[in-house]
Amino acid sequence: MMELKFASEIKKCPVCGEKLKYYKTVKRIVKSVNFSSFIASEKIMQCNNGHERMIFRSETLSSIIAPYCKYTNDVLRESAYLRYIEGKSCSEIATMLAIGISERQVANLSNMALEIFAKIHEENSDKIRNAMKLIYAPDRWHR
Ligand SMILES: [Zn+2]
Repeated sequence: MMELKFASEIKKCPVCGEKLKYYKTVKRIVKSVNFSSFIASEKIMQCNNGHERMIFRSETLSSIIAPYCKYTNDVLRESAYLRYIEGKSCSEIATMLAIGISERQVANLSNMALEIFAKIHEENSDKIRNAMKLIYAPDRWHR
């Protein structure tokens, strides 16, 4: 299986400016829809130079997969899309994805996707509300 290496993109501590020190390397098997399975090797860095210990992980890796998760975000998205938009069953989806994912894992992942969508909406409700006000501001139509 191919191994891809990831490391913290930040090299210097944003708090004290010191060069980050090696903490540990974590390897895990990652399954994805768009890429075949691969081993993600992540070099995690740290700093505790006169302040509380801080850990620095790879932003690139966390943008494609949640920490400690085995499936990339595209599996989550694809599962949710097929289940809620296309109306497929979890067992059909497991077969369609063909990455060795079980029906139960599809159910868990798509449930998780729903929670995440709700949270994103909640966190951005002010932004959405302000954008809507801007678009639908009454005085906009009277100019
Ligand atoms: Zn530091």
